[in-house]
Amino acid sequence: MNDNQTAKKRIVFCDFDGTITENDNIIAIIRHFNPEGWEEIANKTIRQELSVREGVGRLFRMLPSSLQQEVVSFGIGNAKIRAGFKEFLAYCRENEIEFLVTSGGIDFFVYPILEPFGIPHEHIYCNGGDFSGERIEITWPNPCDGSCDNDCGMCKTTIIRRFPAERYERILIGDSVTDFEGAKLADRVYSRSHLTVKCQELGLPHHEYETFFDIIGDFEHKRL
Ligand code: MG
Ligand code: ZN
Repeated sequence: MNDNQTAKKRIVFCDFDGTITENDNIIAIIRHFNPEGWEEIANKTIRQELSVREGVGRLFRMLPSSLQQEVVSFGIGNAKIRAGFKEFLAYCRENEIEFLVTSGGIDFFVYPILEPFGIPHEHIYCNGGDFSGERIEITWPNPCDGSCDNDCGMCKTTIIRRFPAERYERILIGDSVTDFEGAKLADRVYSRSHLTVKCQELGLPHHEYETFFDIIGDFEHKRL
């Protein structure tokens, strides 16, 4: 009787760095503390010559744990939320769209920056930061499952696969290298920056966005 009862449930997998925030926080932190040779590792990671796990792990290992306070406060203080994010969260709630943060970022800045938005903790996936040794060590509580050999670190496709395509319309929002594999699997992709270029290279359908208002507009458009 009602199409909505048989329709697939929509679920959003939303990147954090450079997506919910305007800049990539990992790059901003490393650039700020400027350890020698970081650019080459960052560029190799974006070019996929290093896996994200390897690249991000090596970047943070360049910083001593004694910088913990400075790194954490810079990471939190430097972030700016992209326009329309709060409104998009409200839109998802009103329309019963599931919303997950799937982030290649690190817990010590992801959770504090998202704190004001009331997203349940179990809906936020990210990596961990360990300051107990001499150098900052990134931990990886969400590794690739047996179906992914991309060495993601925080594996978006592993999480996406938990929501089967028969029951869910899987929507990915992202901007860069941590989103490339997920974009291949998602039913709908919202992209900016490196992710747009990648989608063009791969011939993947995608919608470009600049703010979350653009995404709300497209969701509304699809309803008509
Ligand atoms: Mg990103
Ligand atoms: Zn993976």
